[in-house]
Amino acid sequence: MTPSDHPATLVLGGGLMGLAVAHQLARRGENVQVISRRRSEAAGFVAAGMLAPHAEGLSGPLLQLGQLSLGRVSSWVAQIEADSGLPCGLRTTGIVVPFRSEDERDQYPTAAFGEPLNRAQLLQELPGLAPSWTAGLLFAQDGQIDNRRQLMRALESACVDRGVHFQEGVEVLDLLRDQNSRLKGVRTCDSEGHETSLMCSTAVLCSGAWSGQLLPELPVFPVKGQMLSLQTPRGALRRVIFGPGTYLVPREDGLVVVGATSERDAGFSEGLTPQGQTTLKQGIAALLPEAIHWPPMERWWGFRPCTPDEGPLLGACAIQGLWLACGHHRNGVLMASATSELIADLASGGTPRSDLAALLPSFSWDRWL
Ligand SMILES: Cc1cc2nc3c(=O)[nH]c(=O)nc-3n(C[C@H](O)[C@H](O)[C@H](O)COP(=O)(O)OP(=O)(O)OC[C@H]3O[C@@H](n4cnc5c(N)ncnc54)[C@H](O)[C@@H]3O)c2cc1C
Repeated sequence: MTPSDHPATLVLGGGLMGLAVAHQLARRGENVQVISRRRSEAAGFVAAGMLAPHAEGLSGPLLQLGQLSLGRVSSWVAQIEADSGLPCGLRTTGIVVPFRSEDERDQYPTAAFGEPLNRAQLLQELPGLAPSWTAGLLFAQDGQIDNRRQLMRALESACVDRGVHFQEGVEVLDLLRDQNSRLKGVRTCDSEGHETSLMCSTAVLCSGAWSGQLLPELPVFPVKGQMLSLQTPRGALRRVIFGPGTYLVPREDGLVVVGATSERDAGFSEGLTPQGQTTLKQGIAALLPEAIHWPPMERWWGFRPCTPDEGPLLGACAIQGLWLACGHHRNGVLMASATSELIADLASGGTPRSDLAALLPSFSWDRWL
């Protein structure tokens, strides 16, 4: 049987997780269709692209998933680049977390994974850092990827090259199930208002911050983030700076991505706000005062898919045949490589790697019930 003879596996959402899962499914020979309401609203096009399990100070299963994913990023990127012929913008710049005291530094949850820095060493890594930062941790193993301009495009192209079909501008309205809670299909609506039922027995829910709208038992909610970019003088910043509330991520071409607000009460309200932009400006000044004079280039916002414990929802759910790959909050770019491998294995009837499978109970949908 060729992939197009298989009944299609539907991927519900064409953001970062949808594209990454669709690509991995297609690589396993599955016939895949991505249903995507609005490409441009995906957080995959918003994120700063830090690959930062250590700089983020993660702990427990979240740290384990982040570390496993970080370890897989370069081979995952190599697959995407081979299938698309496009670069993804992966960089191992390392990330520096500054602190106001050595005590604060030594108590950081991931301190054991970093290189401790004193003020002089900090200044070597981050010339121009504000004087209040007296200690730091360098996580040389953490990095970044240019998700907005490169990774998302490369994934789209890799998917098409591997035969994935896209329905862009089409919204999934409902999940259809039989009386035994088995998935039967989905009801969709296209941009002209035409409603259709698509039959399927396997689908992957990758609808980001909107996932709870399709399956209300999932406690996924949006956390809005506003961002901006600055054009730096050449070579002004070598490492990512990850400060409390604000980070600066230098891309290869001299653009620095600055993020991000974390607005839990904003719901899905679109647009920039004066307060959000002021917060970013104050954050830049507190970290790297000279950066306030670097010209701003672009400003944007998006919605992180958050859950009560800030961990993703992965694996099976109450509807048989529906797999979950959502709720990655602020670490979805980092976790895309492990998530897509794990979920593509499960949804295609394969056996996932044991280290990833061992984490499934920690990220199951019913862990709050
Ligand atoms: C400001 C900000 C900064 C971030 N920085 C980082 C970072 O530095 N590092 C990191 O690892 N992560 C970061 N993230 C997190 C990361 O972007 C997300 O975790 C990740 O993009 C989630 O991917 P997703 O596919 O689940 O959701 P999305 O990328 O948001 O995609 C969801 C898609 O589903 C579609 N959809 C929704 N409902 C439906 C429906 N009913 N029918 C059809 N389609 C539907 C939407 O149109 C959307 O395109 C950041 C996020 C934000 C907002």
